[in-house]
Amino acid sequence: MPIEIDISSMSPERFRSVLPQERYAAFERATGEARELLRDRVVWNVNSTALGGGVVELLRPLVAYARGTGVDARWVVIDGTPDFFAITKRIHNHLHGTTGDGLPLDEDARRIYEGVLAENLSELAPRVHAGDVVIVHDPQPAGLIDGLRDAGATVIWRCHIGIDEPNDVARQAWAWLEPYVLAADAFVFSRESFAWDGLDRDRVHVIPPTIDVFSPKNQDLEPDVVRAVLVASGLVIGSGEHPPATFRRRDGTPGRVERRAHLVEDGPLSPSAPIVLQVSRWDMLKDPFGVIRGFAEHVPRATGAHLVYAGPSVEAVADDPEGTEVLRASIALREDLPSEPRSRVHLATLPMQDSEENAVMVNALQRHARVIVQKSLAEGFGLTVAEAMWKARPVVASRVGGIQEQIVHGDSGVLLDNTHDLAAYGAAVTALLEQPEQARRIGERARERVSEHFVSVRSLLDYLEVIRSLVHVPAH
Ligand code: UDP
Repeated sequence: MPIEIDISSMSPERFRSVLPQERYAAFERATGEARELLRDRVVWNVNSTALGGGVVELLRPLVAYARGTGVDARWVVIDGTPDFFAITKRIHNHLHGTTGDGLPLDEDARRIYEGVLAENLSELAPRVHAGDVVIVHDPQPAGLIDGLRDAGATVIWRCHIGIDEPNDVARQAWAWLEPYVLAADAFVFSRESFAWDGLDRDRVHVIPPTIDVFSPKNQDLEPDVVRAVLVASGLVIGSGEHPPATFRRRDGTPGRVERRAHLVEDGPLSPSAPIVLQVSRWDMLKDPFGVIRGFAEHVPRATGAHLVYAGPSVEAVADDPEGTEVLRASIALREDLPSEPRSRVHLATLPMQDSEENAVMVNALQRHARVIVQKSLAEGFGLTVAEAMWKARPVVASRVGGIQEQIVHGDSGVLLDNTHDLAAYGAAVTALLEQPEQARRIGERARERVSEHFVSVRSLLDYLEVIRSLVHVPAH
C-alpha cells in the first residue's frame, strides 16, 4: 500500500527575512498565480522512501512550503518488496555506472518491477483525479507514469541522479528504464548534462536542488549553542558551563540534543582544535579513504587541524549493507595510520533515531568546522556542499557532478580537478587553514551564492514554471 506522508504546511512568509525585498515580492506574485492555476488540483509527489537521503531532504520542505502558499501539495511513498528494492537499488547503481550487486537488469527484473508498481497504481490511481499534477521522483516509481497519465494526470518525471559521462553500464540501465520514463509530460534533471540522450529536449527542464535554510540542518545557531550541541553529543569534550543544547524543530516546538554520537578516535576533540570536516553517508563514492589518507599525509601537524569524518549510524540504514562495510574499512584504514596523524583523525557515526536531532548535530559540526571537504568521486548535486556554503564555510570539493554548479572556483570555494590527487587536496585544505582571511572571504561569497541560487524559493518557482508550461487555468 502506498503511504501518504503527513506534511504540515510551512509559511513561506519567513523568506522575507532572507531575501531582498524585490525577490520576495516576485515570489509572492508567483505564489498568487500558483494558487489560481492549481486551485482545483492536487500536486502529488511520489517517491520510494520517507527516511534518509537527499531526496527526502528536498521533498519535505518543498511540499511544506507549497502547502504554505495554499497549493494542495501531497507526498506519497510507494510500497515494495525486498526483491523490488534490490532491483531499484540495482537500477540506481547502474545509472551511476557501477554494477552494484552484479546481477542483471533483465526481463525477470522487469516482471518484479512492474508487478510491484501495478499494485501501487491500483491504490493510487483512484485517488488521483483528472487535472492533477504528479511529480514522480527517481527511477523507483517511474513505472507508474503511464498509468497515472491514463488516470488523467499531468506527470513530471523528476530524476535526482545522474553522471557526467555515462558508461556502458549506465547506458544499458537507461535503455531498460527509458520506456517507463518516456510516457511523462516533462522530465526534470538537476543538471543539463544529466538529461539522457533521446529525450525530447522541449520536454526537458533543469532544476538544481535547494536547501531549507530554516530546517534543523541549516537554521542559525548561536556559537554557544553550537558548542553545547557538540558537547552534548560527545563530538567535542566539554569544559565549563553551556546553555542547553536546544534547537527549533520543523513544527516550531523546541528540541534538545540528548543522544550521543559514536566516535572512533584516540582521544576526545578539544573545542579549540580547528577541524576539517566531511559529512557523508558511508559510501565509496564519497571517497572516505582518500579523505582520511590525504588528510593524514598532506595536512601537516603544524596546522593543529583535526579531521572529523561524520556519517549516519549504520544500524539505522539496515537496508544498506555497503554502509556497514565501508565504515568497517574506514576504521581499519584509520587504525593503520602512523600514530601522529591517526590521533588527529576522528570518525563519527551520528544517531539517526530522531532525524532532527541528527540534523542539528550536522549543523553544529558544519558551523564549527574551519574547512569543509566534499571529496566525492561522483555526485548528483551534493547537498552537503550547499549546506556548508550557507554556513559561510570555505569548501574544498571535487570538480564532479552538481558540485560544479555550486562552487565558483577560487571565489565561493575551491574545486579539485583530479579526485585522485591527494597532495592537491591536502594543499588546498592547508592553504585555507593557514590563510584565515582568505577562508573568511570565500565563506562569505559562498553564503551569498547559496542565498541567490540554492534556497527553496528558487526551486518552488522553477517547479511552478514547469507546471505552468503544462497545465492551463480552467475557464470559470
Ligand atoms: N546527512 C545527515 N546525517 C548524516 C550524514 C548525512 O543528515 O549523518 C545528510 C547531509 O547533511 C545531506 C544528505 O544527508 O543533507 C546527503 O545528501 P547529499 O546530496 O550530500 O548526498 P547523498 O547522500 O544524497 O548522495
